[in-house]
Amino acid sequence: MGSRMTGRVVIITGAAKGIGRGIASVFASEGAIVVIADVDEKAGKATAAALAETATVDFVRTDVTSRESCEGAVAAVLERYGRVDVLVNNAGIYPQAFLHEMSEADWDRVFAVNVKGMFFMVTAVLPHMRQRHGGRIVLTSSVTGPITGNPGWAHYGATKAAMLGFMRSAAIEVAKEGITINAVMPGNIVTDSLEDLGQDYIDALVASIPMKKLGEPEDVGYAALFLASNEAKYITGQTIVVDGGQVLPEGATAVG
Ligand code: NAD
Repeated sequence: MGSRMTGRVVIITGAAKGIGRGIASVFASEGAIVVIADVDEKAGKATAAALAETATVDFVRTDVTSRESCEGAVAAVLERYGRVDVLVNNAGIYPQAFLHEMSEADWDRVFAVNVKGMFFMVTAVLPHMRQRHGGRIVLTSSVTGPITGNPGWAHYGATKAAMLGFMRSAAIEVAKEGITINAVMPGNIVTDSLEDLGQDYIDALVASIPMKKLGEPEDVGYAALFLASNEAKYITGQTIVVDGGQVLPEGATAVG
């Protein structure tokens, strides 16, 4: 147990499972009061209960595609804990769809969760952070879109690049108010949703990663923790890639 986040109130969206759960566990292990904001009530409450053995971890049901739900979640956290120090905007979906089969509804759904959800959550916490003249926002983007491409994920890659475009302008808007906005860019991290893509897919991924293994949710959590820490107070509008070197090779021969 560390104390880098002692007493800080941290909202993490999409933390019922996967990377968000890993981020929640890292912040909880550093003394934060963690609020899991997720649409999956059953998994969210179970994760909160599991992590609450060693820390204060709460759950607020939140559907990030609804502005009302996002504002309600922030209001509930302010009522319960009186402050929000950190927002980790992590909720995201990545259903595979090739261009020839991608419907308008597929496109809209991925943008609604990944981009509009971020806009709703960030604008929901900003009035409070502005009033207190301080706050940290960390976005979970991805290498897919901003750096790399992957067949079947054109809509998803577009959302993850859009998040960084949003971040750069938003970071300037709030810079004078003591608020920073940065992003983590995971490579391939072990989660249920990734495992659902099948062992063949995972084996091919591992072969392309210089470290020859997938990342763990906590690897992303520690990068988010740094961006939310006092040590990162002069960093805004920036990104940290967490990918075991996956974006580095010039070609297959460079990986070995
Ligand atoms: P996951 O499916 O394991 O978890 C996603 C969580 O988001 C779930 O708990 C889900 O209930 C929640 N969620 C989905 N829609 C929501 C909504 N409308 N409102 C609130 N919560 C909602 O996924 P993951 O792999 O942990 O991905 C988390 C984030 O990390 C996403 O933004 C994803 O794009 C990003 N990411 C993942 C990887 C990876 O390898 N797993 C790589 C790069 C980026």
